[in-house]
Amino acid sequence: MSTRASVPVNVPEPPLGHIPGALSAAAAQPQRISTGSLPDPGLVRRLLDEAHRRFAPVQDGAVANYIPALAAADPDRFGLAIVSATGERYAVGDARHPFTIQSVSKPFVFALVANALGHEEVKQLLGVNNSGLPFDSVIAVELNPGRTANPMVNAGAIATTSLVPGADAAAKWEFVRAGLSRFAGRELAMDDEVYESESRTNDRNEGIARLLKGYGRIYSDPLEATDVYTRQCSLLVTTEDLAVMSATLADGGVNPITRERVIDADSCKRTLAVLATAGMYERSGEWLYEVGLPAKSGVGGGIITVIPGKGGLASYSPLLDDAGNSVRGTLATAFLSTTLGLNVFASAPLPFPEPTP
Ligand code: GLN
Repeated sequence: MSTRASVPVNVPEPPLGHIPGALSAAAAQPQRISTGSLPDPGLVRRLLDEAHRRFAPVQDGAVANYIPALAAADPDRFGLAIVSATGERYAVGDARHPFTIQSVSKPFVFALVANALGHEEVKQLLGVNNSGLPFDSVIAVELNPGRTANPMVNAGAIATTSLVPGADAAAKWEFVRAGLSRFAGRELAMDDEVYESESRTNDRNEGIARLLKGYGRIYSDPLEATDVYTRQCSLLVTTEDLAVMSATLADGGVNPITRERVIDADSCKRTLAVLATAGMYERSGEWLYEVGLPAKSGVGGGIITVIPGKGGLASYSPLLDDAGNSVRGTLATAFLSTTLGLNVFASAPLPFPEPTP
């Protein structure tokens, strides 16, 4: 007899930390938005160059090799780019070198799906809490009563892709490709070699998708969802593209270069919350503690960091730490967050008003 019978299959559990009533009451209030701007352009340019100069010599980490085609990445490549919410662009190093987006695709697909289905629905169907475990963890599915912890690790990301609107696999893939292209402001295309390489070695993601199907937490054919997910991970981008995509998430869902609204402001805000809690996988807490900004990494070597209301920062360097986060990208982002004053948790106390005589 299967022990699975004791597990409540297909019964959605309330997400951990759900506060009934209180949060929806807050959502009904009129919203005020407080933002600022990046420091002056000369300082941004100088510190971006300085970050590149400082961290280019770092040789720690290793290129991803569990996807065979990624093992060929040049470990010396290093690019940094910033795009402000007002459309100024800054770049240094290999910022125009193409690489595969990998998991940096996850927040954008989640944003498009949240935009199509509504933030309440996707919270119920996917979860928005940190798994505290590696991005490809199977045990996270077993441990979490909701099965998918959040849309930024593979289980939740494949489930997110399974919710993409479209009559068939081709239409779903086009929704994703066209949607991410609108974030980037140009037509993105797939790296066929990386796609085929990951497809041939994709047993783990296919296993996760099938396991989720068993729990009723994947919403289309599991292998079709895994295939569209693998395609989305194989999209080719540059650091400059990622900075524009990130800036779109920093600008309430409007691409600051094309001025196109890609997603609504509410889906954008929710996406940043998920990034803050889970974008850097099991290192998300440490990242938030040091950098204080929502971010997402991918095993292709890219990281996006969203500076809400101000702009998007992106880095590319294929040498990864053991969580799959780019080492030089992490160092450069922490340096820039501190020196440019970007940490969303930092505040200077207001002076006390002078006592009136
Ligand atoms: N395509 C990769 C995978 O599914 C993406 C992982 C990542 O970038 N962390 O394993």
